[in-house]
Amino acid sequence: MPELPEVETVARGLAKILEGKTIEKALVRRPDLRLPFPKGLASKLKGLRVLHIGRRAKYVLMHLSNQLVLLVHLGMSGRILLGQGAAPTGKHAHFVLLMQDGAWACLEDPRRFGCVDLFDAESQEQHPLLAGLGPEPFDPDLDARLFMQRLIRKKGPIKPALMDQALIAGIGNIYASEALFRAKIAPNRPCNGLKERECELLLQALRKVLEEAIASGGSTLRDHVRPDGELGYFQHHFAVYGKEGHPCPRCKDKASILRILQAGRSSFYCQRCQR
Ligand SMILES: [Zn+2]
Repeated sequence: MPELPEVETVARGLAKILEGKTIEKALVRRPDLRLPFPKGLASKLKGLRVLHIGRRAKYVLMHLSNQLVLLVHLGMSGRILLGQGAAPTGKHAHFVLLMQDGAWACLEDPRRFGCVDLFDAESQEQHPLLAGLGPEPFDPDLDARLFMQRLIRKKGPIKPALMDQALIAGIGNIYASEALFRAKIAPNRPCNGLKERECELLLQALRKVLEEAIASGGSTLRDHVRPDGELGYFQHHFAVYGKEGHPCPRCKDKASILRILQAGRSSFYCQRCQR
């Protein structure tokens, strides 16, 4: 499932191809994904210019002319295909933007957990998918103190709390485990027992793992985004995620990575160096 770095990579890849271009035609091939496509979406998009493409949490936001914003969420299995010429016809190619210069971008989503919406830019803050989101991890106003104030209001363990989009936006299962490892904090530590220094280390670790993943997504972009490219997933090295039974990268042969279940999701960590 794409997390913040993957979505950031998708947004940057889309920006490279689509920004400044005009939508010739949109193809909406189903009534819905996880949510219904907005009524009249294709006719509303026709002729609009793509001004800027960005991201909020795990949502790609395309700022269009007429003060409209097109939101795209990749869900569990969504990816973006880019191409030139005839629009793709695959059975999962549910939504396609065809540009006036012949470029196209297609949302392919076999499991259909993704969604697409179109709304007025001025209503963005009140949008049901965006309104309850916590700060972005890179928000300069988010410092250790504020992060701690948000954390201590939570009752349970730290790992599921990091994945709570209302607490901090964009973090999923992978980068929560990776950041806790970097910060040497055990995933089952209660949130309200963390010290300010630990919150500071955790926030730094979150930013570092996300930055590194975005950088490796960026190098994937340079290597792989051709006109027939695909956006959504890239190879990235993880220290603990998916490494159950492997030696801990810090403790070497003295400890190996454990997997535990928390709120139904796997957490990976080292019992020896994460406290
Ligand atoms: Zn260790």
